[in-house]
Amino acid sequence: MRPDPRLGQIIDSQAEERRRAESSLPISLRRFHETGSPVDAWEAIADWLLTDQPRPESLRTYLYKVAATITNLSRDQIPTKGKVDRAIRKALGFQTTGRRNPFRELTTPGHEFLIAMQVYQCQTRNRHWSWKAVFADVAESHHRPCDQCKKKISSAKVKQYWYKRALQAIPPHLIDRAKSKKLDDILR
Ligand SMILES: [Zn+2]
Repeated sequence: MRPDPRLGQIIDSQAEERRRAESSLPISLRRFHETGSPVDAWEAIADWLLTDQPRPESLRTYLYKVAATITNLSRDQIPTKGKVDRAIRKALGFQTTGRRNPFRELTTPGHEFLIAMQVYQCQTRNRHWSWKAVFADVAESHHRPCDQCKKKISSAKVKQYWYKRALQAIPPHLIDRAKSKKLDDILR
């Protein structure tokens, strides 16, 4: 039997997928450890399955918990009719209440980082401005380069994300040479 010529292409694309997964796994795993979100867990699982790396303990724990809970749904925790979807959601670790969409959360750190970055740039351009003025300016202009926000965001939100992500947005050499990790010492 002649080998299928497409086989070579399939093997090539598998090798490529594997390289992608190997470099992506530490990132997706770290995100899962930070957020504990099942969305992040499944991304890390998908990456890990494509690599030859040993099974990360946190994924083992997550998968075991899901498997044991799902198994239990056919034993002593049988959900009543109409509650099956909810039971599965819960078993997978998804919140069962609230309006939050867990599948949108993936972009949150990047979005907060963008806002912090805009604050840093605005503060650098206008060193004599008060923080209040900087936050107000970013609140006013943030949505223009942002593909998530259709209109102006609040100053309070800008302030919140700045204090959360500032140390990621400020260039590392400025942080290293500062006397303390206080933002006013770093940005003077
Ligand atoms: Zn935005």
